[in-house]
Amino acid sequence: MPDFKILISDGLDESGQAILRASATVDDRSGISADDLLYLIPDYSALIVRGRTKVIASVFKAGSNLKVVGRAGVGVDNIDLEAAKAHGVTVVNAPMSTTLAVAELTFGLLIALAREFPRADAAMKQGQWLKKELEGVELNGKTLGIIGVGRIGMEVAKRAQAFGMNIVAYDPFVPAHEIENRGAEPVASDELYDCSDFISLHLPLDVQTRDMIGPLALSQMKDGVRIVCAARGGIIDESALLEALNNGKVAGVALDVFASEPPGATELIRHPHVIATPHIGAQTVEAQVRAATDIATEVLAALQGKPLRWKVL
Ligand code: NAD
Repeated sequence: MPDFKILISDGLDESGQAILRASATVDDRSGISADDLLYLIPDYSALIVRGRTKVIASVFKAGSNLKVVGRAGVGVDNIDLEAAKAHGVTVVNAPMSTTLAVAELTFGLLIALAREFPRADAAMKQGQWLKKELEGVELNGKTLGIIGVGRIGMEVAKRAQAFGMNIVAYDPFVPAHEIENRGAEPVASDELYDCSDFISLHLPLDVQTRDMIGPLALSQMKDGVRIVCAARGGIIDESALLEALNNGKVAGVALDVFASEPPGATELIRHPHVIATPHIGAQTVEAQVRAATDIATEVLAALQGKPLRWKVL
């Protein structure tokens, strides 16, 4: 068997590293700089990343032995797929591994928006008792609009059903009857904006979806809408969102992802009606083990020419 060399650049749970070590030489260089990556990549047949490493065209160009890039998670927007294709490099991911972790975070954020836990907790820690000010709203009976009803959107829909919400969904790539099977009423995007009390985004960032939630979409939403985004930064136009928060159109927003990460304490993040978390959707013990073992198995399969479960290209 050839001695495959695999570079890990963003951290990978030990469970996955152990699987890799059984068949390959593994170098864990988590946190490696872009320059060091370019310098080292010619030695490796596979690169395993999470979301931090930008696998841009120059990495593929320098990676003369590179056969596979593995993404320990779902989103591959940090990998230049055109360049991968041009250089004949296989790209695989671990799309099932983080679904439940993100769905649970999303639901936590929905409830946090409805009941303002972060504000309540911050006030308590300063010795304040804001009982009267902290009058929230209930999820029961409200309409949740899900944009993108794939793996995560579908799990969010299940949880919303249990909370007595009406669920509508917009997803132009899923047939209407399948959206119904996934627990939501299929609607057009403008209808979703018009009727939803809460909106949760679960679609990928691509050329079509960049800035999709901009001034026009926001203007079509209900006054006082609450929005959750644990999908990808860049889908929401952050300056339009800030304006909509400032003029009261949007009552609250919970963001796990940002156009630029880490974003720093921007005006949007400091806004009193914004709840922000540092891209922790997939950060559970269980999801990290699943992501690591799934991607390790898949990368080895790709190197060994075996059938693949999650080939992106
Ligand atoms: P998925 O591919 O299963 O589902 C995405 C859905 O979006 C698909 O059904 C697709 O048809 C739909 N879609 C695509 N373009 C659309 C458009 N223009 N309008 C409406 N719908 C559209 O993906 P998933 O596993 O459910 O992941 C969803 C999102 O969550 C992705 O953006 C992913 O990167 C993100 N994610 C975030 C974290 C985190 O840490 N916060 C972790 C994992 C995944």
